[in-house]
Amino acid sequence: MLIGIDDTDSNQGMCTTYLAALLADELKAYGTVAGFPYLIRLNPTIPYKTRGNAALGIDLRLSRESDSSLRSLRERVVSHVIRRISEYADADSEQTNPGAVFIFEEMYGETKEPLNFFFQKAVTDVIEIEEAFSLIDSFKSSDNAGFFPFSMKNGRGLIGSLAVCGAMLNSGWEATYEYLAYRLPENWRNRGGPPRFVDPESLIEADLRTSPQTWDTVDYSKKSKPFPVCVPSSDDPVLYGIRGNSSQAVSAAAGFVISEEAERFCVFQTNQGTDSHLIFAESFRELKPLHSYIAGGTVHSPSETLEGGHDIFSIADQNGNIIECAAYEPTGAFRHIIRRLLPGDTVTVFGSFKNQTLNLEKIKINSLVTAFQSDNPVCPVCEKRMESSGQNQGFRCKKCKTKAAGKVQTPVSRYLKTGFYEVPPSARRHLSKPLIRYSEEEKNG
Ligand code: ATP
Repeated sequence: MLIGIDDTDSNQGMCTTYLAALLADELKAYGTVAGFPYLIRLNPTIPYKTRGNAALGIDLRLSRESDSSLRSLRERVVSHVIRRISEYADADSEQTNPGAVFIFEEMYGETKEPLNFFFQKAVTDVIEIEEAFSLIDSFKSSDNAGFFPFSMKNGRGLIGSLAVCGAMLNSGWEATYEYLAYRLPENWRNRGGPPRFVDPESLIEADLRTSPQTWDTVDYSKKSKPFPVCVPSSDDPVLYGIRGNSSQAVSAAAGFVISEEAERFCVFQTNQGTDSHLIFAESFRELKPLHSYIAGGTVHSPSETLEGGHDIFSIADQNGNIIECAAYEPTGAFRHIIRRLLPGDTVTVFGSFKNQTLNLEKIKINSLVTAFQSDNPVCPVCEKRMESSGQNQGFRCKKCKTKAAGKVQTPVSRYLKTGFYEVPPSARRHLSKPLIRYSEEEKNG
């Protein structure tokens, strides 16, 4: 059976990944968890999200029993999961609207395609809760035998729950992994626990030993010192999380980490670091708010640094439609690249479109215009710079008496190369694909 869960968390402490890790351990009493639990990131621009818009899933293979007891086994699993959601969900938080979906084997065929579509849509688009309800209605049979939804409050969590079931039923998406370690409950910040202890040196060691198969463990882009990106500062139970290309790589990295005692850990299969939220846009007219894009254009106006350190520049598409692009202050040194762009440079931008502005996650500089500086002409005899002969009267060399009509344009270095640039790990979205994951072909393409 497939179990999808979403929206049990709040900024005050809970985290749905913890509930999934707990359930993945507890549900072993009823069968085996196939593969790894799923941590699926959905549209990162959704306003209802608490942090990273995650939905969680477990593919549970029930221990084979006689058909008559299979039904009661399923019921026991469903009530176990619902009990845990009711206990752990932060239902008092206004933004928390838990949902869960249980799909049994006989419904896999019927639900596979529609839920694949729903999964892709939930990652790239905005879904109304009514769409989730009508899909659920189309699956539900009168005796709830093959499909069972559960929800609390407005049930918005059903959207993520259906989406993660779509991911579990379909294998054609790029998978990565995350090893998440969780704190002992008495150490949780919302229970008055101390700050997290994870030895930063051990994280650097873990990173050096396993990168590029793991990524975003440590951010080296800060001037002061390496910053451990994989340790959250929020109140949730996560101690640290290591992301990578394989379950082996993330587990190997975790083996180097020295930290306070963890209550449990779980390796999740995810869609993180894959850029699956990005849609190719031919024209800027296609761009809709709350969607994320890959779009090409020509720099229209150079970057302006606003109060707070945010950089904004504009680009135009081939039809002259203009949009603004932003590199916000947390993107750090990435802004230095943005500040060097000049009108006429061609770029491909990657990021979310909100308030008529594309928030940059990455940029590819495709071509650079030649920049010139204007200088006084050089005397062909003595090779020294000429002087102005007065307004609109050209230039002359006093010594050699040579003359020239106007200033000369000399090409200058742009201190910028074509190619990809990305925001630092500490500013990266969960779904954004880090350049370290790019193949040579992708880098050159
Ligand atoms: P965390 O990362 O800590 O687990 P979260 O950021 O996942 O928290 P949620 O509390 O799960 O945030 O809230 C996101 C809500 O938005 C959920 O109810 C989910 O079902 C819903 N949602 C997810 N994707 C979409 C979408 N594409 N369209 C509409 N609603 C969505």
